[in-house]
Formats: sequence, structure tokens, C-alpha cells
Amino acid sequence: NAPISAADPEIAELLDSELRRQQGGLEMIASENFVPRAVLQCQGSVLTNKYAEGYPGRRYYGGCEYVDQIETIARERAKKLFGAEYVNVQPHSGAQANAAVYQALVKPGDTVLGLALDHGGHLTHGMKINFSGKFYHAEAYGVNPETFRIDPEIIRQRALETHPAMIIGGWSAYPRIEDFKAMKEIADEVGAKFWVDMAHFAGLVAAGLHPSPVPYADVVSSTAHKTLGGPRSGFILAKQEYAKKLNSSVFPGQQGGPLMHVIAGKAVSFKVAGSPEFRNRMERTLEGAKIIAERLLADDVKANGISVLTGGTDVHLVMVDLRNSEMDGKQGEDLLAQCGITINRNTVPFDPRPASVASGLRIGASALATRGFGPKEYEEVADIIGTALAAGPSADVEALKARVDKLVEDFPLYPDLDQIH
Ligand code: PLP
Repeated sequence: NAPISAADPEIAELLDSELRRQQGGLEMIASENFVPRAVLQCQGSVLTNKYAEGYPGRRYYGGCEYVDQIETIARERAKKLFGAEYVNVQPHSGAQANAAVYQALVKPGDTVLGLALDHGGHLTHGMKINFSGKFYHAEAYGVNPETFRIDPEIIRQRALETHPAMIIGGWSAYPRIEDFKAMKEIADEVGAKFWVDMAHFAGLVAAGLHPSPVPYADVVSSTAHKTLGGPRSGFILAKQEYAKKLNSSVFPGQQGGPLMHVIAGKAVSFKVAGSPEFRNRMERTLEGAKIIAERLLADDVKANGISVLTGGTDVHLVMVDLRNSEMDGKQGEDLLAQCGITINRNTVPFDPRPASVASGLRIGASALATRGFGPKEYEEVADIIGTALAAGPSADVEALKARVDKLVEDFPLYPDLDQIH
């Protein structure tokens, strides 16, 4: 039982390097966050040893008395947090939660209608080489070409044309709020099920700062690790009538034994997400994203052909539009990386460039709020990003990196983990 530094120094060193990387830069990938130490403890615990196929009280293995209690607590907390009738906390990931939703709500070959991938949808909403596009007949709706917003009238037209068995809400790269009530009405009009994948904005929903899809959707899926700030994994909420189908679709439909160490981490993060501190964190997240959007709308950035999709944001992320800029997404991503800021390039709707370089940047505010940032620090990071993008290749990377270093120093991340080994 040697510590990792002795058992496997090669991996120990890489683990240590990754800790230093996370501590030493500004993490602004919209789908990432930092879990609390309590979640790290769950994930590194003896729960990883335990098989527990089945559900609490109905397992196919002995010795489940404690993991039963953990899973029950996780479920009760999630139900309360989101006001849901049913929850399944076993999906290993967002993609696996979504695969179970398909299995429970539609049949292979059925038509499904989701947001196009290049307009901000997710792979599991119908991408050609994903299971969702291979086993189901995937149709897509796009954003309104003038406003770049999801427009219920466009969804309705597409639904009337394509007769989907399921309409999909939710997104991976979109800066605004959808109208779940209108989408549910469209689903009812065409006789479709309505599923919302709230992976990105689940934390905002938990904090009461974003409309909840739960009252409208037949089923809501999510990841636990984006705005919600929990361990990498998924979960599903639904009306009680879908309980049996969803349970059997997750296990044994898509998965074998649940990852009890991760489920314990989910239980902890549902508890955290119900606290006033979490609400405050989500408020800072939203404020931070707005501050970033505002800075990127300033004249010096505009002069470089750069703008902000939809002119702002209602959520935790900002979509930067580089279609009219000489700088492409790859160059923008690399420039910010040199300054110590990690973001990702992303296609934007009607993108003239291939996805490998793309014409957009997706910038998220969640992880910095977890690190403790408030409006003052977001003003500073927004100005660093704005100044870099306005200057492009002639940016003074060294000076900008020094400003990032100062923020990093003032807001230490995981100071207790320096003794990791
Ligand atoms: N759903 C949405 C909307 C997402 O953005 C993502 C991840 O990016 C997922 C599902 C998939 O989650 P995972 O990476 O855990 O499979």
C-alpha cells in the first residue's frame, strides 16, 4: 500500500503537473469547474471497490448496506434541489445519461429533432457518427439567422416538417435562455416527447437563476460537473411515469455497476448546490460572464472584426464571433493560452471556417467563480482577454501573462492539496 509517489512515480509526477497547471492558470472552459475537496475525497475513496448493480434495496450483490444509503441520499437531495418526481443518479457521464434517455423515450429509427451541432448542440443530440445519429433519424433546427437565438417558431416549422418522436432542448455552446414552455407546446402539438439536456446550466437552475425545464420536459438529463461543480458524471430527472423505463434503460440498458465513489461525490455536490454560498457563486458566475461580454463589445475589440454572438449573455458563457476577423478560433485559443487563460475554440452558426479552426471562442465564467472571483477580478480578466483579442498577433503576451499571474496568486486553488503525495 505504498503512496502513489512510490507505487508509480511516473503517474504521480503527471498528477502533480496537472495540479500545478490548474493552480497556475485561469480556467475558462465553459464545461469545466473545480470540485470541492470533499468530492475529491469521495472519488478517491474505498467506494471505488464496490459492485452494486441494481438500485437501493434491490441489488444483485451483497454488502450494499452503506452504498444503498449513499445512493438514497444522493437521490433525495437531487429531487429536492430540482423539484423532480424521479431521479436516477447512476449515469457514468452526460453522454451515457443521454443514451438512456433515448432508450427510454424513443425507438431506434425514430426521428428526433435537436439543435444543430454547429449551432451549439451536443454530439448526443444527433451528430452523424454519434450513437444518436447512427441509431436514430436525427433532424436539426438552427438558430434564427438574424438574431442567432433559438426561436420557437423555427423549431415549430421544423417539427411540422419532420414529425419527430422527440424534441430536444439544451445546448453546449449557446449564450441565452430557451423558452421551455413554448418548446413543450410544440412537442404536444406534433405528438412528440420533450427532453431537455441541461448539462451546461444545471447549476444556474439549482440556484434559481435560470428557468427550470423540470416542470415542462418529460425528461431532463444533466452532467454534474459543469456549472453544478460536482464530479464528472450524469444524472436524469423525470416525471414519475417514466421511472420504470428510465431505471431499466440506465441499468441494465446502458451500464453495469454504478460508480459508487462518484455517486457519493454527486450527493455532496447536490448538498453544496442547495447552499446560500452556491447561489452566491452562481450570481458571481452570471455577473462575470456579463462583464466579459461587455468588454468584448468595446470598440478596440470591434476594430479587429470581433463581436459577441447575440450581443451578450444570460448564462455562464460568452460566445465570441470571429467570422469577420482575420484571427480564427485556433489562433484566438492559442493567443489566450499564451497569456495563461484556457478556453476552447468553437464553431459559430453559419461558420465559414472548418471546425478544426472554427470562427468562435467559447469563454466560461464558472470555474473562476469557484476560485473566488467577484466583479473586480472579472473586470481584470475581461480586460486581459479584450486587450489580447483586440491586438491579435501583436499582443504584449508577457505583460498580459503577468496580470494573469497576479490573479492566480491572489486566488490560490486547492492550497491544501500541495501535499498530495
Ligand atoms: N450534454 C451536453 C449539453 C454537454 O455539453 C455535454 C458535454 O460537453 C454532455 C452532454 C456530455 O457529457 P459527458 O462529457 O459527461 O459525456
